[in-house]
Amino acid sequence: MQFNPGAMKERFTTIFLVSNDNRDTNFYTVDTKHVERFRSYLTTAAASLTAILLTCLVLFILIASARNEIGTLNQRIFSLKNDLKLLDSLEIKKKVENIENNINDINKYLYERGVFKYENAGGPADISGNPDANIYGFYLGKTDLILKSIKNVPIGYPHTGEFKSFFGYRANPFSGRGSEYHKGLDIKGNTGDPVRCTASGTVEKAEFDGGYGRCVVINHGNGLKTVFGHLSEFKVNQGDKVNAGDLIGLVGSSGRSTGPHLHYEIRYKEESIDPQYFLNLKN
Ligand SMILES: [Zn+2]
Repeated sequence: MQFNPGAMKERFTTIFLVSNDNRDTNFYTVDTKHVERFRSYLTTAAASLTAILLTCLVLFILIASARNEIGTLNQRIFSLKNDLKLLDSLEIKKKVENIENNINDINKYLYERGVFKYENAGGPADISGNPDANIYGFYLGKTDLILKSIKNVPIGYPHTGEFKSFFGYRANPFSGRGSEYHKGLDIKGNTGDPVRCTASGTVEKAEFDGGYGRCVVINHGNGLKTVFGHLSEFKVNQGDKVNAGDLIGLVGSSGRSTGPHLHYEIRYKEESIDPQYFLNLKN
């Protein structure tokens, strides 16, 4: 298709359509303003198309670079995660090693004290099959035994409250004159406050006992006993099996008492010892 340039200034424009081999020639006459309008549309369309193509190109470049960046970041995150895993496993490994050393030391000490037979703890000698499984099995057995033994040692508070009187010599609480030997720890409380057992054992006594008032005695084995005095009520009977934390009675002021409090005593081979050393584990 071609325009007749000479005709552009005329009112009409003649358009010749010539086939490629010049055999067929057709011509049409159209109003010039249509041709100009068509040309202006063509220019606008070309400009728009160029703009769209440029925008697409810019977007394509931006997306490609963003993709690239995301890829790099993902790789970085992956490598950081791996680093963290490595640090974690190193940290855990170190702690497990420390625990193993501690258990080994406990075993050694208990062996030296004759508590139980030392069986090559931690050492690879004499260990057949899977050495790790054997070592951990050995530790498990020993820690079970330690746990069982420790459950029979009175630890912690039978009742929380202000300490009123400590173990040892003290002024007579009634007259304030003269001194007497106080065999336990007095912990202030309100009548009815719960009193809890501090280790596993068997209730040896739950009865009224002179100055102790309503008194519970628990036998923990290995020569250890705990005594709870001045109770207002019993929550156990003689012969009951109890565990640390079990409710055994309620705070009161029965027996030789100046007001509601718990008299807590620990006996080793029938000798009273200072319960304060057993309230918590300190360095
Ligand atoms: Zn007392």
